[in-house]
Amino acid sequence: VLRAESVSKNFDAKSVLKDISLELNPGEWLGILGESGSGKSTLLRILGRFVDSDAGYVYFQESLVPSVKGELIPGHNSIKLIHQEFELFPNQTVEENISYSLRFYEPEYRINKVEELLTITGLSAIRNQKAKLLSGGEKQRTAIAKSLAEQPDVLLLDEPFAHLDNRNRRILAEAIEKLRQEQQMACIFVTHESADALAWSDRIAVLRDGEIIQIGTPQEVYNKPSSSYVAELTGDIN
Ligand code: ATP
Ligand code: MG
Repeated sequence: VLRAESVSKNFDAKSVLKDISLELNPGEWLGILGESGSGKSTLLRILGRFVDSDAGYVYFQESLVPSVKGELIPGHNSIKLIHQEFELFPNQTVEENISYSLRFYEPEYRINKVEELLTITGLSAIRNQKAKLLSGGEKQRTAIAKSLAEQPDVLLLDEPFAHLDNRNRRILAEAIEKLRQEQQMACIFVTHESADALAWSDRIAVLRDGEIIQIGTPQEVYNKPSSSYVAELTGDIN
């Protein structure tokens, strides 16, 4: 559904992404695993067309996605990016934030869907709290519920598990798994935690200094690391 071809990006003189090619298959979950500063967020922003690459192409459903340049991109709603810093309406409640994403639907469907999303993300008890008063993890879950409501073909998640404790991590993972079975939603998620990449990916791409140094199933990456660097990165599961 989404494909990057020889994507490169420089910031000033620094090469942040080097000749990245990858393909996301329908319904697939691709984890991008890399250390801080390896270029994960930059890659996600380029794939979501929030930032232009300096070279290379991005294709969505086989058509070339044009450059950003502040214009509205056709088909753009089908790719949804959740930033590392979430974007919620601060003065609206959790429920209002989620409901907003469903504004084009019939009221009955909308009400039911909001209820379902509140339940599966464990947000029911704080549905009337203003977004600006939420904790990091609550914001994260609200942002994810909001994006799931939009039912994108491709969901791009930047560090989705970062602010979550184990219990909420499980709640969220189950929510995502449920929706994954209901609708053919593909996802690219970024993480620096090998355990999360190994647990939630169909395939993992390992990013080091802006280069994909290995791509494969969790089993392949874990059992047959392409280098001692990958072995070290994926080795210490806790
Ligand atoms: P983290 O895990 O800490 O979020 P990351 O892998 O997401 O890191 P990026 O945010 O993609 O890393 O940044 C990659 C590199 O590009 C970093 O060295 C960063 O300083 C640099 N960079 C990112 N955005 C910009 C920008 N707008 N201008 C200049 N440099 C940038
Ligand atoms: Mg980042």
